[in-house]
Amino acid sequence: MNGSMENSDYTKVAVAKFQEYLKAHHLRKTPERFAIVETVCSYDGHFKLEDLHERMIESRHFVVSRATLYNNINILVDSGIVTRHRLGEMAEYEKNVLGGNSHFHMVCTECGKIKEFHNDKLYKCLLAIKVGKFSVKGYTIYVNGLCAKCSNALKRTQKNERKKVL
Ligand SMILES: [Zn+2]
Ligand SMILES: [Zn+2]
Repeated sequence: MNGSMENSDYTKVAVAKFQEYLKAHHLRKTPERFAIVETVCSYDGHFKLEDLHERMIESRHFVVSRATLYNNINILVDSGIVTRHRLGEMAEYEKNVLGGNSHFHMVCTECGKIKEFHNDKLYKCLLAIKVGKFSVKGYTIYVNGLCAKCSNALKRTQKNERKKVL
């Protein structure tokens, strides 16, 4: 598990993994597929499909249709290169740092916002866990709750309701 792998190194590993996957699944190795993988690897955190679409055009001058992008992101998820978070209204994606991500996710059950956090103690605990003969490749941890904004909004409505009752 190495969360500090350089982006360029990560891209090489991801491209190699993707090539193997395409071959095994008899999918064509098209330039646009590799442009997508490389762009995905340029993200350090979460991104939405919409962001990816814009970045493809801005940084690579590569215009792909949303359908193509969607299709390929599914391939990337399936090959284990990308993790999909489907918690809010819109799915968020992130590259899967080899061996699993060392960060965890706080998910607001009200607005669906996802924030990442790090916790060394929890991370070390996870690494120490043995689950029978299952070989662990990583964890995706979600902590559910309310973000500060939603929590404040809720307090405000509760206060107003109390006023009405009084
Ligand atoms: Zn919220
Ligand atoms: Zn994440």
